[in-house]
Amino acid sequence: MAEAMVIDGKAFADALRARLAEHAAAFAHQAGRRPGLAVVLVGDDPASQVYVGAKGKACEAAGMASFEHRLPADTSEAALLSLVERLNHDPEVDGILVQMPLPAGLDEQAVIAAISPDKDVDGFHVINAGRLAVGQKGFVPCTPLGCMMLLKDRLGDLSGLDAVVIGRSNIVGKPMAQLLNDANATVTIAHSRTKNLADVVRRADIVVAAVGRPEMVRGDWIKPGATVIDVGINRLPPAEGKEKGRLVGDVAFAEASAVAGAITPVPGGVGPMTIAVLLRNTLVAAYAHAGMTAPAGL
Ligand code: NDP
Repeated sequence: MAEAMVIDGKAFADALRARLAEHAAAFAHQAGRRPGLAVVLVGDDPASQVYVGAKGKACEAAGMASFEHRLPADTSEAALLSLVERLNHDPEVDGILVQMPLPAGLDEQAVIAAISPDKDVDGFHVINAGRLAVGQKGFVPCTPLGCMMLLKDRLGDLSGLDAVVIGRSNIVGKPMAQLLNDANATVTIAHSRTKNLADVVRRADIVVAAVGRPEMVRGDWIKPGATVIDVGINRLPPAEGKEKGRLVGDVAFAEASAVAGAITPVPGGVGPMTIAVLLRNTLVAAYAHAGMTAPAGL
């Protein structure tokens, strides 16, 4: 069996960002302002700081305005909600993202609920989750939408394909399953209580792993020729003498590549898509706020 094709999410995301930059420039020309994303970070979680920095840089690189709000860890919920309210009414801000997780004591659901659904570019607000559930237009969480772009690029029409999504979180697994269902795949959602997970996965033409367990999905779980999308980002303990451990996905990459038809690597697969789709959602929001028609195919 030939080695699987490695799906280059980084190259795909770079191309998407280049297209978005062209659209953002056209938008700025027409609207007289750049599309704007406000990112709110509460506290000093190191991973969150890296993500927020990367989002700001990606915005600026795509010709969008980035408004960063870094608040101390002891910020009160009232202060955070009042910032969100201010951003909801700020005409320069098209998208609002509050970086999760929030420090203990702050109610994440209350904060998400306070974001205007029309600026909820993360797609976490119940209004947007509801829109996705009933097939209305709305913001879809960035990671599953990015996975869907990679799948459609690789497979074209997904009609009738068997898809297994491992994981049922609100930000990845559930919306992923809904998008696959909308694309007419036959979808199974697996989770920590699923029996005989390996057998369930073995039936799938498409496997999306969003679990958070390093290399849990083994090569002999994969149907020959299947397309494997690995959402997991797990850091292994450092090898001796090293400061940091290796990043691995939820799929045992070497084993799975010997069987799959195509597979995303970690890093360089799904990860880069998430930020690119965030920019895409921000641009879509900007067109809507300006009362302008978004370009086709965005
Ligand atoms: P959650 O922890 O919210 O959800 C994990 C899911 O996996 C749950 O539904 C859980 O089941 C299921 N699960 C846990 N253990 C098993 C098991 N042994 N067998 C089957 N299912 C299991 O994680 P997220 O959805 O937020 O993230 C998943 C992974 O994706 C993480 O590694 C995360 O870092 C990564 N991620 C990557 C992103 C990117 O940009 N590439 C973005 C977001 C996440 P149950 O519901 O029964 O508990």
